[in-house]
Amino acid sequence: MLITPNFSVSEMACSCCQKAEMDDEFMRMLQELRNVAGFPFRINSGFRCLKHNAAVSSYKKSKAGIHTFGKACDISVMSISTTQTLHLIKQAQDIGFTGLGLKLNGDRKGRFLHVDNRGDDFSPPAVWTY
Ligand SMILES: [Zn+2]
Ligand SMILES: [Zn+2]
Repeated sequence: MLITPNFSVSEMACSCCQKAEMDDEFMRMLQELRNVAGFPFRINSGFRCLKHNAAVSSYKKSKAGIHTFGKACDISVMSISTTQTLHLIKQAQDIGFTGLGLKLNGDRKGRFLHVDNRGDDFSPPAVWTY
């Protein structure tokens, strides 16, 4: 089952409970990013329930992370170049993503670009590395 032309429920679903309560506007923006990027995305993590998020998140603050709101996903950059990755960040900013996190160190399989559309009620726009 597809959420948008290029993204299925199963690839956005929480890996522990298969819930995929994704935000409509986030998915619209993700599809737009996919369209301008022009290559397939491999999603490392989309929706996360509170329990799963607590188990995997590096976000140590007391409030729930943005993945639990269905407003975030981690796009694998394992098989794209650093230049392409930086280009993707620019394209994501142009589309209006307000949270961008980049993991470019460690095992290639674990490298990803986190994108989210957090609102000011969550936090001001943020860019970070892992
Ligand atoms: Zn879960
Ligand atoms: Zn993330």
